[in-house]
Amino acid sequence: MDYKPYIRIIENFPKEGIRFKDITTLLKDGNTYKQAIDEIAEYAKQMQIDIIAGPEARGFVIGAPLAYSLGKGFAPVRKEGKLPSEVISADYDLEYGKDRLSMHKDAIQPGQRVLIADDLLATGGTISTTIKLVEELGGVIVGAAFLIELTYLNGRDKMKGIDVFSLVKY
Ligand code: AMP
Repeated sequence: MDYKPYIRIIENFPKEGIRFKDITTLLKDGNTYKQAIDEIAEYAKQMQIDIIAGPEARGFVIGAPLAYSLGKGFAPVRKEGKLPSEVISADYDLEYGKDRLSMHKDAIQPGQRVLIADDLLATGGTISTTIKLVEELGGVIVGAAFLIELTYLNGRDKMKGIDVFSLVKY
């Protein structure tokens, strides 16, 4: 299926020069949202996965329905100060900013096989940090799945040795 007609492009958001891929126009169409999750789930079914980890907030919109569909757990990766129990944290760069991500120390058990999920792969900064946190907890990354990949930013190169799947490429 061609998902591009459902993704709205906003020029110069949140700052000059960024072509923001707005997925709210896809999410509000139930059939298209379901089909996108089902397609990502088809990819994920081929792998042995124990749990899915996704960064807030749009990583939840992809990762949580994926986890539900596969009958697996979901580990939220959040901005600092949001998780209530003991955390580990790491800094990261965005295509348009800087931030810090955290995970609960008990979110992943050592040896668990983890699929990373997010809405969009841009520079790969967010996902590299998510991978770093999961690996620090002893998780084994089996793959990374995205709704959208901005191939011209070469985010994949930051994830050497990790299987990367994306539904829509720009
Ligand atoms: P990055 O760390 O550079 O791979 O950026 C990934 C995160 O930033 C994704 O989770 C997106 O939600 C957001 N993002 C970065 N660039 C864009 C863009 N051009 N359009 C929409 N979201 C973006």
